[in-house]
Amino acid sequence: MPVEAHFPGLTPMNLKMTVQGIAYYTDHYDIAINRVIAARGHNEILGHEPKICRFCSRSAPAVTFRKEAHAVPELAGNGTLVSLYECDECNARFATFEDDLGKMTLLERSAGQVLGKGGVPSAKTGQKKSRIDMGSRGFLIQEHEGDPITAIDHNKKTLTVTISPHAYRPLGAYKALVKIALTLMDESDIEKVPEALRWLREPDIATHQINDGTNYSCIRSWTPGPMPIAHTRVMLLRRKPGDQAGPMYVMVLAFGNMTFQVVVPAPQEDKRLSKNTISLPPVPVFAFLEKGRVRGPTRFWTKSLASPAPEKGEPSVVFHFDGVTEVTPPPVT
Ligand SMILES: [Zn+2]
Repeated sequence: MPVEAHFPGLTPMNLKMTVQGIAYYTDHYDIAINRVIAARGHNEILGHEPKICRFCSRSAPAVTFRKEAHAVPELAGNGTLVSLYECDECNARFATFEDDLGKMTLLERSAGQVLGKGGVPSAKTGQKKSRIDMGSRGFLIQEHEGDPITAIDHNKKTLTVTISPHAYRPLGAYKALVKIALTLMDESDIEKVPEALRWLREPDIATHQINDGTNYSCIRSWTPGPMPIAHTRVMLLRRKPGDQAGPMYVMVLAFGNMTFQVVVPAPQEDKRLSKNTISLPPVPVFAFLEKGRVRGPTRFWTKSLASPAPEKGEPSVVFHFDGVTEVTPPPVT
């Protein structure tokens, strides 16, 4: 597979889709944001004094700005990018949507070793005995008798870890993704998405939700390997002026092993599209991958995040291995 040597994660299987994606987005979109966000280091600050909340338009003394407002959730590997234009009240409300995004991706983040607020997240089973953690020497899977979480297939060379997943609200996770786009957008773009702002101001997820016909579809991808997307990235694509091909704004959030592509609801801008069926190709994500960390082809799929009702997250994750070594396990605490 000579192609893979140059573009990690890319295989002849998804080459055609990638070429189509590059052509589509080059023809119809401009890159509004392409931001790499560090997990550690000095804070980067968005906005300026005096502080006015972008989401509710209020300022002190009506609201406070005491909490550090992360422009991208910490669970997505952001340890440095904060904004001055998110009040504490809006911040607390957004935390409930980020919780949905966090639960949706918990097992995948454990597997992908993304640093969250408290380091790498641990995934436990319902009985809370068996667990997987990231230790200094790699993955530590603790399996207790009567609480099995792993299955090894020596023929396929896979290790499957299964836990009882946490319930999350898919539409809440979508709201968290939209909030990221609206946090990073320029003021001139914010003016084009008043409905999305109104939706974000609601503490629940169904009130003022926007039916723009996209059914809250999320194009996801997964690339195997130890954090092949080493640095969290947000890309916002804006439809070219005068173009009518696709929706106004397409956002991609990429971190760890994962990418999430969503349409930012902009019903006024996308009025013409509401009665048409459009097929939106995945944004090519191969440029985000670090060659030495990719262990297999990137997989894409579409997931509807339309449901406001809780559903269960992924119950299992599959690891591929080259071989098994018998070692003395470290003492279990
Ligand atoms: Zn606010």
